[in-house]
Amino acid sequence: MQLLSVASEIYPLIKTGGLADVAGALPGALADHGIAVRTLVPGYPSVLAKLGKAKVVRRYEALFGAPAAVLAAKIEELDLLVLDSPDFFAREGGPYGDMAGGEWPDNWRRFAALSRAGADIAAEGLKGWQPDLVHVHDWQAAMTAAYMRFGPARAIPKVVTIHNLAFQGRFGWDIFASLGLPPEAWSVDGVEYYGGTGYLKAGLVSADAITTVSPTYAEEIRRPADGMGLDGLINGRADRLHGILNGVDTSIWDPATDPLIARRFSARALAGRSANRRALEKRFGLDHDDAPLFIIVSRLTWQKGMDMVAGAVDHLVALGGKLAVLGSGDHPLEGAFLAAADRHRGRVGTQIGYDEPLSHLLQAGGDAILIPSRFEPCGLTQLYGLRYGCVPVVARVGGLADTVIDANEAAVASGAATGVVFAPSDPAALHGALSRAIHLHRDKGQWQAMQRAGMKADFSWTHSAARYAALFRTLVQDAA
Ligand code: ADP
Repeated sequence: MQLLSVASEIYPLIKTGGLADVAGALPGALADHGIAVRTLVPGYPSVLAKLGKAKVVRRYEALFGAPAAVLAAKIEELDLLVLDSPDFFAREGGPYGDMAGGEWPDNWRRFAALSRAGADIAAEGLKGWQPDLVHVHDWQAAMTAAYMRFGPARAIPKVVTIHNLAFQGRFGWDIFASLGLPPEAWSVDGVEYYGGTGYLKAGLVSADAITTVSPTYAEEIRRPADGMGLDGLINGRADRLHGILNGVDTSIWDPATDPLIARRFSARALAGRSANRRALEKRFGLDHDDAPLFIIVSRLTWQKGMDMVAGAVDHLVALGGKLAVLGSGDHPLEGAFLAAADRHRGRVGTQIGYDEPLSHLLQAGGDAILIPSRFEPCGLTQLYGLRYGCVPVVARVGGLADTVIDANEAAVASGAATGVVFAPSDPAALHGALSRAIHLHRDKGQWQAMQRAGMKADFSWTHSAARYAALFRTLVQDAA
């Protein structure tokens, strides 16, 4: 089976979050199931810089008013199609906005262009290559499904994956005329969304199947509280909705082989963790002692519950804990964590920014990773924590609920516990969870049993890739 994937990020070329990890890992995992994936991504500077030898496989004199070309290249194991359109993508800053954090005002045009190119490739194929199925990720690529549905590629099955329903790609009604869609696409069953244009919405109504990244999140988004305005639509298409957990790319995240950490270790040889812990304490200016070391690797946002952590730092330190924070995001939260580090020298350390190697060291050296999200479609950092013996302390939402087994009395006694799970996502429950984790950490034997249980849990892509493969095969068969 030949599959075209369309994504706005892909690890290791460009990453702002879990979407990139998934887009980067799924092709390798699907290859084991006889599915060959080519991924269309925007030609950001960081992507073009790593491209090396590339072939032009499609040209546009004007794609949404700008010259563009699709380049084909292989990078590591990834078979890439890169939409090179300098007017849209050759910019300093992030993939969606400038250095100051503001969104690019022409995002509607940039990602309509990406999606249009995806639909054109689906419709016309590339020399000697034709996709059997198109898989698109999040709002930035979702319009591919709409362009396909209202164009010549309508018969090819299309799957939209929701990585985060909070990001929907909503724009004004007035852009519709520029999208190049037929007039009938302007309807509640098309791209119209509460009087404006909705990219994710358009993808969801056009898709043959909708997937999201954990079974619990698939349930949550059907309820008004977490449906973000799309619960009605999603309920109406519930028979096409599938919750499939993200996996861990174990070629990148494995403490026994990881080149980015100070010392390698395994479930059997946990002692190697202490060298990582020391390296971490040094990096973050923390005291060297046995106190439980909590870590954060996160976007610093309300969704991730980071305001609650900022409010709980004094409590955590008073209980005897230490905290190392790596993250970036909302400026007031960045300031709050920097101030906490100032207030609690040696007990709290903060590094603002995005640092892939340091994120590995944190998982390898921390005792517990703190993830008190208000909602969490899947979450990858708890999976990395489990694999690295960094015990997750998580809110019971979305993928966090699906992947961490709470250390209640029965689970501890049976050896099943892998972390601390709390509900609801509020400051009182977070305080309780911190106390509980610190209490559990005092019993070294018990703590190590939790670490080992987590490290042995299998969250590789094996199971999830099989589920995607089965879904894709059914869709292709049904379309035949
Ligand atoms: P989300 O995609 O909602 O941000 P996930 O947990 O699914 O959350 O994925 C986050 C990914 O980004 C993980 O791979 C995590 O390690 C990484 N990450 C987040 N913040 C940072 C940071 N400041 N530095 C390095 N990696 C980070």
